[in-house]
Parts: sequence; structure tokens; C-alpha cells
Amino acid sequence: MNRDSQEFAILQELGFRFDPANIYQQVLGSVLRSAELIDAPRYLRLIMAQPKNELIVHFPVRLDSGEYRLFKGYRAQHNNILGPYKGGMRYHPNVSLDHIKALSVLMTMKCSLMRLPLGGAKGGVQVDPYALSQAELMRLTRRFVSALGNNIGPDYDIPAPDVGTNAQVMAWMADTYENVSATHSRHDGQAVVTGKPLDFGGSRGREKATGQGLVFVLEQMLGSLGLTMSSLRYSVIGYGNVGSWTARLLADRGAKLIAVMDHTGAIRSSEGIDAHGLAEYVRQTRGVRGFGGVQAIEERAFYEEPVDIMIPAALEQMIDVQQAEWIRARAIAEGANAPTTPEAETILLDRGVTILPAILCNSGGVTVSYFEWKQNRMAETWDEEHVDIELRDHMVEAAGRVREVASRLNCDLRTAAYVAAFEHLAKVYSLRGIFP
Ligand code: GLU
Repeated sequence: MNRDSQEFAILQELGFRFDPANIYQQVLGSVLRSAELIDAPRYLRLIMAQPKNELIVHFPVRLDSGEYRLFKGYRAQHNNILGPYKGGMRYHPNVSLDHIKALSVLMTMKCSLMRLPLGGAKGGVQVDPYALSQAELMRLTRRFVSALGNNIGPDYDIPAPDVGTNAQVMAWMADTYENVSATHSRHDGQAVVTGKPLDFGGSRGREKATGQGLVFVLEQMLGSLGLTMSSLRYSVIGYGNVGSWTARLLADRGAKLIAVMDHTGAIRSSEGIDAHGLAEYVRQTRGVRGFGGVQAIEERAFYEEPVDIMIPAALEQMIDVQQAEWIRARAIAEGANAPTTPEAETILLDRGVTILPAILCNSGGVTVSYFEWKQNRMAETWDEEHVDIELRDHMVEAAGRVREVASRLNCDLRTAAYVAAFEHLAKVYSLRGIFP
């Protein structure tokens, strides 16, 4: 987004100060540019430019030492025109309002692209969860959810796991919500969060869902890139839930994992890294560094590895100008949310690198969250095969929508994905109108 662009004119009107490094302005810039491409009504661009609600809560937590610490928690509820707000809860030291807001916009876009009856939200707490004991983490989660009170709910706003949270955290969230909020209305509160443990209302296939969705997208898109699954050579950034599940599922299809980088270091092997073995190693050691039988490499060498596909599956803004200049991959499949900065994207697109955008590639997570919510509300339990079939159908349809827009407007795939999402939102707004 530049200072004189139409997109920024809207933000300026809303009181924003131009800051090209700001994640919220970066994400919104590309969303609003897509809106411009289809001449979306001005009121819609204005509505999309800010979340409906931004909640900030502060709450004390007793540490095991007996000391108290005050924590800051967020929930940005971006849009609910399509259904209840939906999106993950992140526990990470770098959580900030602008990060959460940017991620909430992406949730609105994902749910719309996938045609789910859900809106977009995101939340989190500024904390390093690995520096806390399980008991501290539980008390923090319970205080956070009680601070949010009725601002979440199974018909209103439905959290899920994200970076730094997992099924156990979701179980504490649901239990706390039932005790502090749902009790008063005598409603069952289990469906207030998704990504719960299997024994407590979780869905089969939810844990691997984001990686599984990405693999279904690759199956759809590889042909048009002149690639095949069985001869695919790829690299991954981040070996948490998304990175490790994607790699394990790709390994089962014959693709070769050539290089992996995370916050502890980078490794490579031209014969292929054992994706399953590495997942177990990272589970125990919390990083890829020191994994046996591979070569340790530097960051630059990781990016310069000439793979077919690079899969960023860690945090936002990992691929900036410097990394874009190093990258020798043919395509990038974004497992993470907003891993590529706009400047890096321009460099990559100019060089002919295809970018499969996050809102398509990683929407398997929220899609299986939707299946979980639906199962809870219908008191049903689907088997894994059924979840996979439904997920595959949703991913294939979304990929088809993106391809259709890309050829209709002759644009890149990220723009196409945002347009496909925007067109649906625009239609629903035109049907519903703006109250009063
Ligand atoms: N945190 C995931 C995402 O960024 C999943 C959200 C959800 O399941 O609601 O898409």
C-alpha cells in the first residue's frame, strides 16, 4: 500500500497514520486493493477496514511462586455478517492489538472464501506459554475466559487453537465458559470453542486439519505448476502443528522434504528428511536443531535451496525483501497467516514465483472447526473418513473459486482469493442492507 493509494485514503479517513511495516496496514492494503478491483461499494470497504469490536482485557494470575502477574488479553471481532465470529486464540510474547486485528480480517476472508456460515475474529494473550507451568497456564486461561465473559459464546464468538494453544487449552476454555457464563442461561456451552480434545467434543481430523487442507489444495494446484506430488521437493518454515502435519501427510504421498527451518535453526538433506521422525523429535525437544542424519545450514542457505515449493508455516512477515531475494522455490504455499510482506510479494511475483495464498491454503483448520461446531450442535460424531471427504470437497471448491477469479480478472492468486471472498460478502451485505 502506498501513501497516495485509494486503499490508504480509506485508512486515512479512519485516522490511521501511514506505516508500511505495520501488519494490519499490510493485510488490509491487499484486501482493499482486491475490493477496488471489483469496484466493491465504498461502505463495504469502510466496514472491512476496522473490526466491529476490539476487546482488551487485563487480568492477574497467581504464579506457582505465589507472586502475581498482570496479563493483557485481546479479542478482535472483525465481522459477523455471515455468522458467529470465529477464530483462534494465540499465546505468544509478540501478540499485539495490530497482529490480532490483522489476523481477524484474514478469518473473515477465509470463512467467506470457504462459504462457511461464520464470521472472523482472533484473540490472544501476550505471554510465552512455554515459560509457564501447566497449572499456571490453566489459571491464565480460566482468568482470560472469565474476563471475556459473554463476549464469546457458541452462537456469538467461537475461539479455537492457534500458535501457542492446543486442545487442552480449549478444554479449559469450554469448561470455564460453562461455569462463568453458560450456567446463568442454563445453556450447554461445549460448542463455545473448537479444537477440543476428542474425548470432550472434539472432532476427528481437527488436529491435522490445516495441514490436510493444504495438502488437498496442493493436489488441486500442482498440475497447473507443472509439478507432481510423487516427485515434489519442498521445504518448510516452522515445524509446529501446521508444518509438521503438512510434512507428514506429504511424506505419505511420496513428496520429499528437503529442508526445514524453525526458531532453533535450519536443516537439510537432499535424500529427504524423515517427516514423521522429525515430528516426534520436535515434540520432545521443541525444535529441529540437532536432528540426526541431516546437515545443519544457515538461514540464507535454507532460502536459497532450489525446491519446487516452499511452505512457510510459522509466524507472520517471515518472508520479507531479503528472504524474497534469496528464495529459489518455484512456488510458495502459505500455511501460516500473512507470512509474505507486500514488498516481498512484489519481488516474488515479478520473478514468476507463484504464491498460493494463506486464506486458501490454511483454511482447512477453520473448516474442520466448523465441522466440529456442527457435530456438537447436532450431537453427532463423524468418523475421520467423513471429515476428510467433507474437507476435501470444501478445499476443492474454494480452489476452484480462486482459479475462476484469477482467470476472469487475470490477476495473481492472492488477489483472486480476496476477490472471491469479497464478492460473497458484498452479496450478503446487499441482501441484508445496513441497519437501520
Ligand atoms: N487458528 C486457526 C486459523 O488461523 C483456526 C481458526 C479456527 O479454527 O477457528 O485459521
